[in-house]
Amino acid sequence: MPSTSDTQLAHDAVAARVAKVRARIEAACDRADRSPDDITLVAVSKTFPMQAIDAGQAAGLMHFGENRARQLRDKAKARPGQHAGGDVIWRMIGHLQTNKAKFVARHADAFDALDSPRLAEELNKRAAKNDRVLPCLVQVNISGADQKYGLPPQDTHAFLDALADHEHLAVRGLMAMASFTEDPEDVRDQFKQMHELFATYDARNNPRVTMETLSTGMSNDFEVAIEEGSTMVRLGTAVFGPRSYD
Ligand SMILES: *Cc1c(COP(=O)(O)O)cnc(C)c1O
Repeated sequence: MPSTSDTQLAHDAVAARVAKVRARIEAACDRADRSPDDITLVAVSKTFPMQAIDAGQAAGLMHFGENRARQLRDKAKARPGQHAGGDVIWRMIGHLQTNKAKFVARHADAFDALDSPRLAEELNKRAAKNDRVLPCLVQVNISGADQKYGLPPQDTHAFLDALADHEHLAVRGLMAMASFTEDPEDVRDQFKQMHELFATYDARNNPRVTMETLSTGMSNDFEVAIEEGSTMVRLGTAVFGPRSYD
């Protein structure tokens, strides 16, 4: 067990980082003439222990992102998410293999990396078994060859259309990871393209889709993402400090 003072130090460090992040979000919103109230901060807690969740909550955070289905399940068992009556929101933000869909359908509050018809089928089935509707974001591959996962941008709208009969999924928007670069200005165009895809989908005839959330921006590029229309940023390093692995 960590001593009280260690815990306090960890809490203080996270609170200080969150304060800095909030100030940077506000500044980016100012530049874009947007309201910080329209930006949701997801604290990416992957690889960090439950104490990090405590520290994040103490700093006022509610959304936590995990990229491994089993890790999410274990953490959500220790601290149930909102759909299970808890006070945190567990978001699965990483690629999901079909055989692990059951963990996400049961334990996640939201799945932010939906990118194939087969996975949609399986999640819909599993969510039905758990008697719930699973909020999802559709992941788009906006960086081309730099990434393995996500739908090609040109296929995104047709994919959304095809989800119309998946009664146990509720698509709330899109998610993407930009290319990794030293200079976030290099990926401004990718964020612009994502906003275009997000803003031009006509959900009027699709009961399964409402376009509310555009999840773009990570620790190294979130200000540019916000300037280009992001409504949800996913920050690991900027909130919890460096990770030793992915
Ligand atoms: C790890 C991860 C993040 C956060 O990365 P940082 O650079 O630490 O902010 C965001 N999104 C996804 C999908 C991730 O896997």
